[in-house]
Amino acid sequence: MPGILYIISAPSGSGKSTLVNELRSLVPYLEFSISYTTRAPRGSEQNGREYYFVSRREFEEMIRREEFLEHAEVFGNYYGTAKRFLREAEARGNDLLLDIDVQGAAQVKERAENSVSIFVLPPSRKDLERRLRNRSQSEASTSKGGGMSDAVIERRLLEAGKEIEKYSKYDYILVNNDLQEAVECLKAIVVSERKLRSGKALDDADQKMLGEARKCLQAAQAQSGKLQEILSSFSPAPSG
Ligand code: ADP
Ligand code: 5GP
Repeated sequence: MPGILYIISAPSGSGKSTLVNELRSLVPYLEFSISYTTRAPRGSEQNGREYYFVSRREFEEMIRREEFLEHAEVFGNYYGTAKRFLREAEARGNDLLLDIDVQGAAQVKERAENSVSIFVLPPSRKDLERRLRNRSQSEASTSKGGGMSDAVIERRLLEAGKEIEKYSKYDYILVNNDLQEAVECLKAIVVSERKLRSGKALDDADQKMLGEARKCLQAAQAQSGKLQEILSSFSPAPSG
């Protein structure tokens, strides 16, 4: 059976990279797909670690050679997942984690039979703005600089409002409020989906994990009221 593709999407600044980094140290047999992008490196980012940074021409050449499983234009730059990451993870018997936007997630869901999708939400628009500003400040203080301007932050917040509307297309919704709790929940989703798909019997510890994961199922979250609160924090205030 091919490995599981875990798709994680979130509005920029929600804490997805932080969560994914934590997860990688906790769950074995899980590889991380390093995307290609035409955007410039930020802060301490390194080519081949966070992304492969390429020119538009190189990216378009890769599209022409059909090297991408999916690709999309996000904030005016190309981003794409190379098919080779999927092939390599499969050859090693590992699962693969993709950190991609809502457009890419829709393409992968259509093309891959064995995927699990997770949408990460910030606790509110205010928290998202704070996180974007904090990250921007710490990036600006690195030797390469590269913090975001107010205009870029505003654009990301506006975009976040639109992305968040796509939450219902995902299998799981994860609210990243307390980091440790969110990491535990993400781990529970990954581990219990793996166990369920293995066809093996679940022991008590597995059942506990499954219970944790199920709290984040989209349907469970949609009924919780918390989700509506988060969504409405992104809606423009009525005028007049
Ligand atoms: P993303 O990958 O979604 O764009 P990052 O992982 O870069 O977001 O996180 C954005 C900022 O928010 C970072 O400065 C990070 O340290 C901070 N952050 C992440 N998770 C939390 C959390 N649960 N509570 C407070 N701050 C957080
Ligand atoms: P950032 O520039 O903040 O690193 O990422 C901006 C957005 O691009 C995020 O929503 C991130 O998930 C998305 N992204 C990163 N890599 C890919 C990719 O390979 N494909 C797609 N479709 N989106 C990506």
